[in-house]
Amino acid sequence: MGDQNAKKTKITKRNTAYYLFTASGLKAESKKCIDCMVCTKQCPMSLNVNAMVKENKMENSECILCATCIDGCKKSVIKFTFNKGI
Ligand code: SF4
Ligand code: SF4
Repeated sequence: MGDQNAKKTKITKRNTAYYLFTASGLKAESKKCIDCMVCTKQCPMSLNVNAMVKENKMENSECILCATCIDGCKKSVIKFTFNKGI
């Protein structure tokens, strides 16, 4: 009964703790990209995210799935992928 007043956790793009434990990678809709380069400029791993999007090669062993590029893209080009069964 003590849990009745507990606040529900809202899952948002910025709730990276949730995604860190469940996301398996990134995917992109490259045709929506406007080449603003925000994703590349903001990536903490200095990855050329724009090039990854344009080449549709979102797998990168250095990507830490931090969601910075997802949050920064005004065109919602980049999204997480998830393992089957989750
Ligand atoms: S932030 Fe989005 S629109 Fe801008 S270059 Fe990256 S993927 Fe393209
Ligand atoms: S999720 Fe983070 S590390 Fe991976 S490409 Fe996007 S900004 Fe870079």
